[in-house]
Amino acid sequence: MAVRFASLGSGSKGNSTLIDDGDTCVLIDLGFSLKESVRRLARLEKTPSDIDAILVTHEHADHIHGVAAFARKFKTPVYLTHGTYQPKQMGELPKLNLISCHEPFALGSFQVSPVAVPHDAKEPCQYVLSSCGFSVGVLTDLGHVTPHVKACYRDCNALLLECNHDLEMLQNGPYPYPLKQRVSGDYGHLNNQQAAELLTDMNLGGLQKLVISHVSEQNNLAELAVSAVEPHLVDWAGELIVADQHEGIVWTSLS
Ligand SMILES: [Zn+2]
Ligand SMILES: [Zn+2]
Repeated sequence: MAVRFASLGSGSKGNSTLIDDGDTCVLIDLGFSLKESVRRLARLEKTPSDIDAILVTHEHADHIHGVAAFARKFKTPVYLTHGTYQPKQMGELPKLNLISCHEPFALGSFQVSPVAVPHDAKEPCQYVLSSCGFSVGVLTDLGHVTPHVKACYRDCNALLLECNHDLEMLQNGPYPYPLKQRVSGDYGHLNNQQAAELLTDMNLGGLQKLVISHVSEQNNLAELAVSAVEPHLVDWAGELIVADQHEGIVWTSLS
């Protein structure tokens, strides 16, 4: 079976990505309540018992809100860095796996490569998952693109890429000044232009799907994100998708 992926929702109110190769099914983050997570999984024809593991990127609520409750209820293994696991916040987890940002590991039929990213969390990482000759990269919640990030994501066949804000909308928008500084800072979130620039370093010949992700409802519009990345995708034969906060994205397959 082919590698496929879907999103339960993407944005500052909750994030979760599903990646499945027919043998192993993994969630990256779970930023929704337990009930909402189960409901959104059902929309993608999955039940909690189908989930083999949850990989966590960092401890911000839009990524971990449902992780501990889900893991306790369904005995789901959780993988996260030492810094991201905060016992006071998450409590006991039945199958806890502490990982290093710099050591790839096998998870069922997937090879998982954590990638250290610059973000204002304790020990954040993002992930590239590979199986059957395909790799899917999730890259959100980083303030800038480092050479390490470029190298790790260059050959992805699918990329879920943060286009958090349009810089002008953020600057003219309703956020208080310190929050504007945080979001646009080196340890905040990628704006549309920064995301677009990453594409110049990608091996676009191998990239089949690009998913515009973690779009701010306050400080961005899907159209602005699309028009920022499109000039970098001239002659590209892949599919451009926008992930939604409420609907996520439907199952999308690599072949
Ligand atoms: Zn986030
Ligand atoms: Zn974050």
